[in-house]
Amino acid sequence: MLFNELGLSADLLRAVADQGYETPTPIQREAIPHILEGHDILAGAQTGTGKTAGFTLPMLQILGDPPSGPRRVRALILTPTRELAAQVHESVHTYGKYRPVRAMEIYGGVSARPQITKINRGVDVVIATPGRLLDHVRQKNIDLSFVEMLVLDEADRMLDMGFIRDIKEIIRHLPKKRQNMLFSATFSKEIRELANNLLDSPAEIQVAARNTTADRVEQLVYPVDKDRKRELLSEMIGRGNWQQVLVFTRTKHGANRLAKQLNQDGITADAIHGNKGQGARAKALRDFKAGKVRVLVATDIAARGLDIEKLPHVVNFELPHVPEDYVHRIGRTARAGQDGTALSLVCVDENKLLKEIEALLKRDIRKEFVPGYDVDKRIKPEPIQNGRQRRQGGPRPAGGKPSGRKKVGQPGGKGRPGKSARAGQRKRFSRSTRTSAS
Ligand code: AMP
Repeated sequence: MLFNELGLSADLLRAVADQGYETPTPIQREAIPHILEGHDILAGAQTGTGKTAGFTLPMLQILGDPPSGPRRVRALILTPTRELAAQVHESVHTYGKYRPVRAMEIYGGVSARPQITKINRGVDVVIATPGRLLDHVRQKNIDLSFVEMLVLDEADRMLDMGFIRDIKEIIRHLPKKRQNMLFSATFSKEIRELANNLLDSPAEIQVAARNTTADRVEQLVYPVDKDRKRELLSEMIGRGNWQQVLVFTRTKHGANRLAKQLNQDGITADAIHGNKGQGARAKALRDFKAGKVRVLVATDIAARGLDIEKLPHVVNFELPHVPEDYVHRIGRTARAGQDGTALSLVCVDENKLLKEIEALLKRDIRKEFVPGYDVDKRIKPEPIQNGRQRRQGGPRPAGGKPSGRKKVGQPGGKGRPGKSARAGQRKRFSRSTRTSAS
């Protein structure tokens, strides 16, 4: 199927052609005609499927030219994070380049003043995170009573982040008659409930089977001791000459520390997480996209919805606590029609998390063993800390047993080859890796 068979107008097709897209993705094929016909939509689609163009293109067509008189907010797109809001805004800009549409982002963490100025100038499309938008609504800075189209993008993430009440309150300020579109990677009971209340006989679209990962992502697990993960990661990046790697950690502290250590290893890296100001986050993302830093270390929340074109490598430095987050993480690679790899460095503490992920995927992930990084079988699993509770050498959680873990990984430590021996083992890394389909 071609784009020009979807019922889109010439100016939108031109904007699509400018992007170099040849054919619509499955979500675009399914969603665009339904939206153009005015139907509500319930879509199961992850980031990377082309969903943004799937709702933006028909939305722009339906909005048409702004009516005479003051511009009113006629389309509202809610997203879980500011990064996703910025990306969706960029898409509206890209696909609407031959249209007189005016769009803006609204999110927290930055001054409200410039946002109010922009709202007052008149805007057709608002892309917002729920919290800040609600502030504006409550303070009567924005009038949502002309909204004709509502999109909830990554609805599952918004619910995970506790936005449900804000969303419901925002919806109360919208006109009853409007077109609604809900996009979600997963469909929990809560999402179903939200969809039932929000949508009117929606067209249901599912482009990837529920909770399955993109076929094109090659997934591998590297069993490794916790205190050797950083060394293995640096080595993989160096040997593979990887130029753009998104690495996930569980905690903000862990993200900062890893970025710092990678820089010390001579690999340019930056961290992106919720404790960083908007400016720092945007800069980190910009530098990463521009190839100025090779590694972006991110926490789950910060990475949600990030659209980085042609991202070839995603590494789980630590597995997520929530198995669904694994699916989201690896969705950052193999985007629309490209291949990618998702590697997970898994230590003994994380075997349980790995089992949960494999249960969700309904299949085992292939294990790869790197010579020189053999797992020390004497190390017993420990409960996973959430980062702030215990610093190295700090107090252990109640019931936690002290272990010789830290010592074991140090050069010359008990039972572990010393630095020079490890250097010898490292050489072998490039030549062979053992594979087992587990
Ligand atoms: P999304 O799932 O909306 O985040 O889009 C993922 C990526 O796919 C973005 O980088 C888009 O630019 C790209 N994309 C969207 N539609 C197409 C298409 N029809 N063909 C190729 N790439 C696309």
